[in-house]
Parts: sequence; structure tokens; C-alpha cells
Amino acid sequence: MDIFLTFDYELFFGSVTGSPEKCILHPTEKLLELASKHQTPMVFFIDVGYLIALEKQMDEFPILQADYQKVVQQIKDIVAAKSDVQLHIHPHWEKSYYDGQKWIMVTKGHYKLSDFSQDEVLDIVRRYKSKLDEISGRKSIAFRAGGWCIEPFEILEKIFMELGIKFDTSVFPGGHFESGEYDFDFRGVPTKNPYTFQKTTLQEDANGFFKEYAIGSYRYSPLFYWKLYILGRLNPKDHKSVGDGFAMSQPGRKKQVLTNFTWNHASTDGFYATKMKTITNIALRKKEENLVFIGHPKGCTLFAFKELDQFLSEFKDRCHFQTFHSIQ
Ligand SMILES: [Zn+2]
Repeated sequence: MDIFLTFDYELFFGSVTGSPEKCILHPTEKLLELASKHQTPMVFFIDVGYLIALEKQMDEFPILQADYQKVVQQIKDIVAAKSDVQLHIHPHWEKSYYDGQKWIMVTKGHYKLSDFSQDEVLDIVRRYKSKLDEISGRKSIAFRAGGWCIEPFEILEKIFMELGIKFDTSVFPGGHFESGEYDFDFRGVPTKNPYTFQKTTLQEDANGFFKEYAIGSYRYSPLFYWKLYILGRLNPKDHKSVGDGFAMSQPGRKKQVLTNFTWNHASTDGFYATKMKTITNIALRKKEENLVFIGHPKGCTLFAFKELDQFLSEFKDRCHFQTFHSIQ
């Protein structure tokens, strides 16, 4: 079975974005150390809008120039280390700005690509992809939508075909959340993985140009989330995320997960990492072709780094750790 260890490479988008050092640079360095130790390449979905926002204001603020150079260098390091960089779009960077001290995130009404006009969408996708490809020196071919808001895919269909973006990994079967700025409903998506599609990621189209590598999903119990929240309080040293920012609010989400079984990602983040082995064993038993994990450098904890290290020791010879660059 192929395993894709994917990480969304980004700051936080709430009231405090956190620093690039703690949210991106340091934890990614640790992840690359694990990738090299176990010879298990990883895929980083780069939030290119951040780079474009840095570039826009870096003549005015030298600190942004320094941040830009560090992030660009790390993207090159990832590629040199035989891991993969692909395209992640959070279009609210188009409206967000640095006020001299901090980033002011303008997410309301600008969080999803579908919040923009069709012409704006085409322009954003073109500019962001060419920026990433210019930095990495390769052609990106895979996409993950910011906040999993991949639908309506029809606004991306033609431009993705034109630019050769043929893989998507934004869907996680069973997931749904329509609150605040989020809007996705993946209940009833194909169970096959990967599957081909054309006009929408929600239905298989055997003749489609695109392939969905759905993110692994797991039905988490309310008890799991009680543990997650309590451990964070009791033992912040091991269980507090290394990233130093705040996430955008997800109205109603906490109550939902603490009171119901919910489908959520197979993830390397924080306490979710405890389920990696279980989820992998289930996928192996079901003879799945592949399993995609999603994580975030900013969402790593000391505990999660240890879990990931053990997970890789146990599965590196039993599974094939894969990147989109190598399957194209
Ligand atoms: Zn993201």
C-alpha cells in the first residue's frame, strides 16, 4: 500500500497568525529529519498566498523580506531532500495585509476560492502555481484546497486542465462542515481511492482527467476529543502545538465532536497521531491501494513527533511512502 504523508505548510489564520519560525520553519525541519532518518518522503502543500503577500510588502518591511527568504530556502531544501512540494491555496491572502507588527487576516467572505469571481479565480490559480513552480524548479501537479473547500470544482476544472494539475487531495470521505467560512460535505463520495473525476470531486467519472486521492478518514469518538482537550490542559509541554498562533473559528465544531461520533482526517497532528497505526492497519486489512495522512507543521506537538517516529519505524518496510511527484 502507498502512504502519502502530507502537510499543509502555513501559518494560522485566526486573530494571531503565529511566527513563520514556530508554525512553519522549525517543525518542518523536524519533519524532514524524520523523512531522512526513515527514508520516507513527505508532501508539503505550500500556502503560496503567504509568499505572494510577503512579496507584496517586503520592500516596505525588512522583516518580511527575511521571512520570505527563509521560507523560499526551505521550499528548495524540501525538494533537495527528495520530498515533494505541491499547491495549496488560501485565497484570503489576496485581501490580508501586514500592519507593521502583525498580519491582519481578512478571511470573512474571502476564505474560499468560490468567494471570488471566476476571473479572479483564474488569475489566483495561475499566479500561485507559477510562483510555486518558479521557486521549486518543478511543475506542481497536485492540489489541496484551503479549508477543504474544493467544491464547486467546476470553477477550477478548465484552468487545472490547462495547467496540468491532475491530482487533488482535498476530499475526506464522511466529512462535512458548513459553518463560519467553511463549506464542505463529503458524505456519499466514492469509497474507491483513488478515483477519477471531471466536473465535481463528489462523483466518480471513469473518463475524467483528474484523480482524487482522498484523505484517509476515521470515525472518532467523543471520548477521543475529551482526551485531546484534557491532555492539552494537563500536559501542555507534550501536547501543545508547536505553532504559536490561533486557528480561525469553527462555530459549533467543539460541541459537535464532544457529543457525537464524527468523521475526521487520518492525521499526524497532535493527539490524532495516536490513531495512525490503527488507521493504517484497517487500510491494509481492506487492501486499500493508498492512504493519505494530512498534517500541519504548525499542528505538530512533541508527542506527535514521537508517535510519527515510531509509526515510521513500524511501517516503512511494510508500506511504500509516496509523493505526487513520483507517481505522475
Ligand atoms: Zn491550509
